[in-house]
Amino acid sequence: MADCIFCKIGNHEIPSNVVYEDEKLICFHDLDPQAPVHVLVIPKKHIESLDDVKDEDGQLMGHIMVTIKVIAEKLGLENGYRVVSNNGEDAFQTVKHLHFHILGKRKMTWPPG
Ligand code: AMP
Ligand code: ZN
Repeated sequence: MADCIFCKIGNHEIPSNVVYEDEKLICFHDLDPQAPVHVLVIPKKHIESLDDVKDEDGQLMGHIMVTIKVIAEKLGLENGYRVVSNNGEDAFQTVKHLHFHILGKRKMTWPPG
């Protein structure tokens, strides 16, 4: 999608600090980290949010979930980590391209803010 910042990161039009990449997804460090480790995993395909995931995206979504575990291992998050996907206004989604935050290397609190 032409004006989407995460699409531009996905196709390397905008530089990012890449942690992991394959043909379907890219993982990069968040610009404004909320934990000692804070990365974002995004599909290269433009999907606005979880609300826009279609049946045909099932394999892609499964691939993202399986790869999150691989990335967590690569980042040394053996003590645990949190995965967050903010969807829509109430969740304060600021970038309208589906993304999963992986946060780690500190104790998280619950409930989230
Ligand atoms: P959300 O509020 O869930 O939509 O999260 C969007 C996240 O994207 C925020 O944590 C931002 O810090 C992060 N972000 C926005 N632009 C960039 C960028 N160019 N590179 C890395 N992270 C970004
Ligand atoms: Zn996009």
